[in-house]
Amino acid sequence: MLRLYNTLTHKIEEFQPLNPPNVGYYSCGPTVYDFAHIGHARTYIFADVLQRVLEFNGYKVKRVMNITDVGHLTSDSDSGEDKMEKGAKREGKTVWEIAKFYTDDFFLMLDKLNIKRPEIICKATDYIKEMIDLIKKLEEKDYTYKLADGIYFDTSKLPDYGKLTGQTFEKLQKTLKAGARVDVVEGKKYPTDFAMWKFTPPDVKRQMEWDSPYGRGFPGWHIECSAMAMKHLGDTIDIHTGGVDHVPIHHTNEIAQSEAATGKPFVKYWLHADHLLVDGAKMSKSLGNYYRVKDLEEKGFSPLALRYLYLTANYRTQLNFTWESMKAAQTAYDSLKSQISDLLPRRQAGKSQIAERSALSEEKLDKINKFRDEFTQAINDDLNTAQGLSVVWKVVKSNIPSEDKYDLLLLFDEVLGLDLKNIELRVKNQELRIPEEINKLVKKREEYRRQGNFKESDRVREVIAEKGYSVQDTPGGPIIISNIFIKKLIDSQGNSD
Ligand SMILES: [Zn+2]
Repeated sequence: MLRLYNTLTHKIEEFQPLNPPNVGYYSCGPTVYDFAHIGHARTYIFADVLQRVLEFNGYKVKRVMNITDVGHLTSDSDSGEDKMEKGAKREGKTVWEIAKFYTDDFFLMLDKLNIKRPEIICKATDYIKEMIDLIKKLEEKDYTYKLADGIYFDTSKLPDYGKLTGQTFEKLQKTLKAGARVDVVEGKKYPTDFAMWKFTPPDVKRQMEWDSPYGRGFPGWHIECSAMAMKHLGDTIDIHTGGVDHVPIHHTNEIAQSEAATGKPFVKYWLHADHLLVDGAKMSKSLGNYYRVKDLEEKGFSPLALRYLYLTANYRTQLNFTWESMKAAQTAYDSLKSQISDLLPRRQAGKSQIAERSALSEEKLDKINKFRDEFTQAINDDLNTAQGLSVVWKVVKSNIPSEDKYDLLLLFDEVLGLDLKNIELRVKNQELRIPEEINKLVKKREEYRRQGNFKESDRVREVIAEKGYSVQDTPGGPIIISNIFIKKLIDSQGNSD
């Protein structure tokens, strides 16, 4: 039984999708005006783990993620600049150019972190018609009003506005008023009211603008997600995720628009990942504690070690990133990979006995089943990946046969996504990186093997060995291992024990 914390009900609930085994799942995606940082990485790893846990439980997940390439303003109060137009100005490029550039970079980051691509990825600018249709519907139902700068949603007309926050309507007005800067939009009936369509100001030429029945302009950020989520997943969807900072405004307003338009619940389960802190503070460029995955790589860390680090913490608590914790995660991750690479030859030599239960003693079979149950229980307990990792280490240290260990760990990795199968060992130092020369030799050897010329392929293997590397053939292709690296790894483990 899968249990998840639902922000909407403020409690842990048993997950029951509307239409099992199908699950409709929407994740808020990036605004592509700048690079994504390691705080974003945490949210997307959480969303990925959730998808994997659902699949592990046998659900068929249809996941949608948006790319916001218009309409996300620098201020939450409907004033301020469009982040995209601002980014384009900063770089002297067109908005379309920067959208493409940062979208590509975002997906590069996802790939490095072994995050699965959602089935549907939608750019806001491709759904302007759907957004206008949604606004029209809300206009017909009398939820809208017009101000000089746009079309607004009247939040006082929705009886349960703000329910995601757990606060009353009155309390929300006060909170917003207290937090508002001087640039409040004039004429707003309530501080919580928000723009669904913004007009291009007179004598301004925006790069991104569209005609609408209300005037030339561009959509608000919240309407984008409502329109795209309902377009692909229907009026009511099972799961919606995002960062916890989206709760009070973005997600609250997504709910308001969608439910006002359809009269139905918009989302059954809302899940949110908490913030990442760096050295105890909020990450910011001005504090100098702002990091991208690429910065970590440049310091010699692997992106998957960052993933490992994030899996050691509960997604609903703040996580404090420090270089110490990063180093510890890298060591643990390397150690896990090396243990698995050690299991592989034995896995290939012998068949896994999980498949042939009769060959195993009662005691070992029992253990295997217990590990599997323990892992499943952990991840099904509101994605307790930290507990899941502890089961991983228990398996590593257990006395069950190597080939079964290997299979169990790979099974767990379907959820953890640590790419444990790929044991091309990560190299810590420049000197240990697999040189191009060796890669070429390995390719050459592969060619000989394909041609059936084993005499030549053996000769090349010897050349490779003389240069300090060994090649292991696996069903997924050859793996190159640096003998110096193995030695260093063993030495370093000896020291840390
Ligand atoms: Zn969104």
